[in-house]
Amino acid sequence: MTHPAQPKASHFINGEYVEDTSGTPIPVIYAATGEQIATVYAATPAIVEQALSTAKEAQKAWAKMTGTERGRILRRAADIMRERNHELSVLETYDTGKPLQETLVADATSGADALEYFGGLAGSLTGEHIPMGEDWVYTVREALGLCVGIGAWNYPTQIACWKGAPALACGNSMVFKPSETTPLCALKVAEILHEAGAPAGIYNVIQGMGEVGGALVTDPRVDKVSLTGSVPTGKKVYAAAAAGMKHVTMELGGKSPLIIFDDADIDNAVGGAINGNFYSSGQVCSNGTRVFVQKGIKEKFLARLAERTGNAILGDPMDEATSFGPMVTENQMNIVLGYIEKGKEEGARVVCGGARADMPGYYIQPTVFADVTDDMTIAREEIFGPVMSVLDFDTEEEVIARANDTEFGLSAGVFTSDFTRAHRVIGQLEAGSCFINSYNDAPVEAPFGGVKASGVGRENSKEAIKHFSQVKSVYVRMGDVEAAF
Ligand code: NDP
Repeated sequence: MTHPAQPKASHFINGEYVEDTSGTPIPVIYAATGEQIATVYAATPAIVEQALSTAKEAQKAWAKMTGTERGRILRRAADIMRERNHELSVLETYDTGKPLQETLVADATSGADALEYFGGLAGSLTGEHIPMGEDWVYTVREALGLCVGIGAWNYPTQIACWKGAPALACGNSMVFKPSETTPLCALKVAEILHEAGAPAGIYNVIQGMGEVGGALVTDPRVDKVSLTGSVPTGKKVYAAAAAGMKHVTMELGGKSPLIIFDDADIDNAVGGAINGNFYSSGQVCSNGTRVFVQKGIKEKFLARLAERTGNAILGDPMDEATSFGPMVTENQMNIVLGYIEKGKEEGARVVCGGARADMPGYYIQPTVFADVTDDMTIAREEIFGPVMSVLDFDTEEEVIARANDTEFGLSAGVFTSDFTRAHRVIGQLEAGSCFINSYNDAPVEAPFGGVKASGVGRENSKEAIKHFSQVKSVYVRMGDVEAAF
């Protein structure tokens, strides 16, 4: 019998499901059991061509609709997503292995927020009138054209919506390629957008590995590329886009600092560290994986952290009591276990966890290392798993310098009861998305993205509009034209 997660077909192009089984088969594995639950086929060159030519053609009429009309479709899609939240959350859990406890509140719901928010903005994307004496200049905010979205595997529904909603609101069309690891959810986003009234060809999904992404990025018809992925992939995609002078948004990796001063509320700081390291089993780009704790509260902090981490419930992700799921793939589990071994070898102290969980599926125990130093591999490289490194510090000046001593710059957080210090420290941290006495909140209203190697551009908020549109300026002369001859 076909598994309920098996999609109707691999791709969604021109308003309908499309299959081409001559592409490379991509098995979809449920991370909680290792069982194959679906198969999709990578896009062949013919499928890539079909998606791009359809999206290019459909965009013209879409851009001519009023923003209010486009926005209405996005808001209708948001309503459908919310109505189907349970079913979409189950699919997200199959796709990623994340527990239903999380997917019910973080995935289709945040996708719906993006559709609703950008749907609401679509009718107010206007230009300016600039008086020049009798003459004037007016500006028009125009769509870029055909946008490509390429997703990572940790938030397949959210990423498909965070890219698709602002792109469509501005009058662009999109071809979206999910990660080959989690190919299922974006198809549902496409299906729902079309059910909500999006014209055929406006939002297309095709499957495939890096080569398919590469074919999309280098196609001359593509005007913009928005990638969520790792820094090495980001560098390749950015370079390929630059060769065609395309617009880019790069949402890449991080190794973000979370700084806890000794006047912080311990339980809130521990809660922030847990949210910033163990949500989605640590597979979150903005995680605060370098937890700097001021020496005065170090032992108290570690004791409370170990106690609360011990309350994590590892188990069947479909059971809503489960609060901690598996790694997305066996490969990712092995990468993370490799980092845990490195941490031990290089002399960090295991406070809790530190091994694979003794159960089927790709589970790793939530792991806390203490006595981590800045030069250790676990303090320098993005692990993308449930591994928290706790580092000690003495002074504010010292911790700011150490926090910034990294190629990354995605996020940063500070816990302190001294608000003057909180703002002073945040002001000096090199990061795009920051938190004071909190960690990892990502409402659609707030800009999200990184500095340094963590990325270019911003998703969400009004900032995203700037990255999915361009400004045309028009000078209007009322009098005669003066010319030299
Ligand atoms: P990857 O960088 O491996 O892949 C990202 C996407 O790019 C995938 O769809 C991948 O396809 C595709 N891709 C790979 N090579 C190319 C290429 N040459 N041209 C075009 N596309 C290509 O990232 P992961 O999927 O492993 O995701 C984890 C990474 O994503 C982490 O580093 C994490 O920090 C980052 N991330 C960043 C976020 C942010 O907003 N800043 C949010 C979430 C994750 P395929 O995998 O199918 O081969």
